Amino acid sequence: MSAPTSLHLVPSPIDAAGDDAFPLVAIERLRRTGRLSAPLPIELGGEGLCEPEKVGELRRLLTEIGRDSLPVGRLYEGHVNALVLMLRYADAETRAGLARDALDGHLFGVWNTEPKGNGLTLDAVGRLHGAKSYASGAGFVTRPLVTARMPDGRSRMLVMRLKAGERADLSEWRVHGMRSTATGTVDFTSLTLGDGAVVGAPDDYFRQPFFFAGAWRFLAVQLGGMEAVVETFRTHMRETGRGGDPHQQARFGRSLIALESCRLLVAQAAETAAAEALIPERVIACVNLARAAVDQAGLDVLTLAQRSVGLAGFLEDHPLEAQMRDLATYLRQPAPDFALTGMAAHVLEADTPLHALWGA
Ligand SMILES: Cc1cc2nc3c(=O)[nH]c(=O)nc-3n(C[C@H](O)[C@H](O)[C@H](O)COP(=O)(O)OP(=O)(O)OC[C@H]3O[C@@H](n4cnc5c(N)ncnc54)[C@H](O)[C@@H]3O)c2cc1C
Repeated sequence: MSAPTSLHLVPSPIDAAGDDAFPLVAIERLRRTGRLSAPLPIELGGEGLCEPEKVGELRRLLTEIGRDSLPVGRLYEGHVNALVLMLRYADAETRAGLARDALDGHLFGVWNTEPKGNGLTLDAVGRLHGAKSYASGAGFVTRPLVTARMPDGRSRMLVMRLKAGERADLSEWRVHGMRSTATGTVDFTSLTLGDGAVVGAPDDYFRQPFFFAGAWRFLAVQLGGMEAVVETFRTHMRETGRGGDPHQQARFGRSLIALESCRLLVAQAAETAAAEALIPERVIACVNLARAAVDQAGLDVLTLAQRSVGLAGFLEDHPLEAQMRDLATYLRQPAPDFALTGMAAHVLEADTPLHALWGA
């Protein structure tokens, strides 16, 4: 690994202005407080936050960060996801090298999505061609874990070494919410295997149940975004003296039910994914149950808060305005229909009684 510089997160020419600016201060705080290295095992200098017995701690941390800021939560979740993948699949030497990078303060991310017709490929002599799209932290993540298609059709995980500000194109990220995540397109053409490290064997990235079950981590962040909306809803009711109205109470009560049901389902999903005790299909169904619940409950909470707070919540200087945009945008995750119907199909076919499905 090359020696990192203090450059990782200095503002770059692509750093946007105002509220859309990349959250440099918040990421720096995560670094200073040891949160960027906390997912590493203790023997590699971290706090073992990815160990199964610490899954509750990691879940609460992701929710807490998401509650403060969904964009920061999204970036931290990507960082944790990359470390989880490299800890699970990389060989000892690569793990040690990448762990040093995390300790040195590099921000990681996972960039799998790609533009149609220009996806990332790795040719037979180790050269990269093509790009990744919807890459959060583009220009700021200096250790992205990417998937690259090989000539035989299988996929390689690589952690590339990038410099801050390098190769990132944010011109298309003109978006409803989550603007400050610097989610852009990054072209890797002309880089080679020597500019990064190989993680695991071909197609490890897609190994189940880990590929789908890892969704519990973004659910924990989304839950934090829901909590922020409900908290702002509550504050508005108290400040305007409208909380005594039965219609407002009913809507607030329904918001709380949505929030707290999801908290339980996300906790169950996280525990089930970490325990790895059930058959893979059951683990995935358990996480997809939480996915479908959070997707619906997040939208419900937004509608209830909009009705109760009214037009004031749409004004730019009201905290609800940005919170709503961020949550609505971040709720859009891959294949939500499949998450719901796949889970339902699994349970319909299972012989296990409903009360014993998730092993509790
Ligand atoms: C803020 C933010 C940051 C992100 N950062 C990253 C990142 O760092 N790295 C990364 O790799 N990605 C990132 N992404 C992209 C993300 O992983 C998903 O690719 C993206 O959110 C998918 O959203 P979508 O609504 O287009 O999903 P889709 O899966 O396209 O879903 C849209 C709709 O189509 C349906 N649908 C899906 N597939 C089919 C099908 N085959 N036939 C019919 N209907 C279908 C779905 O159920 C849904 O109703 C980010 C996304 C967001 C919002």
